[in-house]
Amino acid sequence: MSNRTGRRLPSIRKLMDFSLMDFSSNCLLLFPLLLILGIGQSLSAQTLGVAAAQPSTATPSPPLNGVPVSPAFPPNAALPSRGEPTLSLDETLRQLSVSTGSTAVQSSGNGDTTNRAELRWDPFFGTGVLSVAGHQAAFDTGGEPGLTILDSRQIFSLPSPYLEDGALRFPETFVAALKRAFDNSIEDDQTRLRIAAIIVDPGHGGKDTGALRTHTVNGRTLNVVEKEVNLNAAKMLYARLQAAYPDKRILLTRNSDTFPSLEDRGVLANSVPLKDNEAIVYISIHANSSFDKKSRGYEVYYLSPNLRRNVIDRDRYSDNIEIVPILNDMMEEEYTTESTMIAQSIEKRIGEAMGGSLPSRGVKAENFAVVRNARMPAVLVELAFVSNEKDALILTDDALLRKLTDAIYKGITDYVGTFEGTGGFTVNP
Ligand SMILES: [Zn+2]
Repeated sequence: MSNRTGRRLPSIRKLMDFSLMDFSSNCLLLFPLLLILGIGQSLSAQTLGVAAAQPSTATPSPPLNGVPVSPAFPPNAALPSRGEPTLSLDETLRQLSVSTGSTAVQSSGNGDTTNRAELRWDPFFGTGVLSVAGHQAAFDTGGEPGLTILDSRQIFSLPSPYLEDGALRFPETFVAALKRAFDNSIEDDQTRLRIAAIIVDPGHGGKDTGALRTHTVNGRTLNVVEKEVNLNAAKMLYARLQAAYPDKRILLTRNSDTFPSLEDRGVLANSVPLKDNEAIVYISIHANSSFDKKSRGYEVYYLSPNLRRNVIDRDRYSDNIEIVPILNDMMEEEYTTESTMIAQSIEKRIGEAMGGSLPSRGVKAENFAVVRNARMPAVLVELAFVSNEKDALILTDDALLRKLTDAIYKGITDYVGTFEGTGGFTVNP
């Protein structure tokens, strides 16, 4: 099922992985393979002087039965190394490369992941790193068998590659096991839940000014126009998110003084293309106002669970229309939970950043129209009151507004980190 209908269970394999901590404490003592990550050079077969043109002596890959894939520690010393068929570097890279058009590779975030395997080789230590599609396997030569470490967390005990007449030879079992491990990791990328897009919505715009107030502060006239404050703040937030998440789509519902209707905003939000493992969040930025000039502070809203929404795209289930209400309830509940979490993170971060200078009015549930049609977790932040003089001074001061939007940014990153770190945490924990 897709993320719009229900969430995948986290891969059981993840639960079995060595944690980075385990790896660090065990393996740094064994050999300094991690040290070569990042300091080796990227070398082609030619620059290595490896016998690239040598015809393959490879027989079809042997079955992997008996070759521990993950985790495999301590090493299994019974594995053969020398004497078994080997592949040249070129053949190995060809074997490990993921063929163009594979759906596995297209899963990566920014779409520019290479799918050709590469080797970085450190001649001094006699160690190398094979990488494909963002995954890396570090190996040493001469171990009997050697240890190979995938993505700094999975440990394999495999026959070591070795140098023969200046050329690297890769045992077939090594290549086959690595191929399978890379394929598993790439498949994991495809199913790992991630936030793929964040929509920042500056409230109002164009003919719809939002709240308007004029204050006179120390003889100076202060015109506060909500649509301008919202756009200013949203652009600051947008810039922070873009810098932090080059692999996510960060979208503004407007970037000038225009008026997208509430319906337009909903349509835009729902039209962002997402893969099955991808999620999206919606942050609407507003400023408050009240007839009571003393009312002040910030508040964060999430959509009230009392409002029944259509969060499921019925067209996707035209063959199975009777499950739509059930899926709708599930997703609505999930979106509400997630929206509440985002709202709480933002509320907390603004509190930390603004201290006593801007009081919190809390996290609240509301049937706000802005995101009623958005099929995703959504929150609305009321930055401060345009109708209050102290608040208006914050809203019209770029440095203070930046402080406020930085706090919203941090609240969002808290949520994104938790969501992605736990694989979507809210369903089937
Ligand atoms: Zn507003």
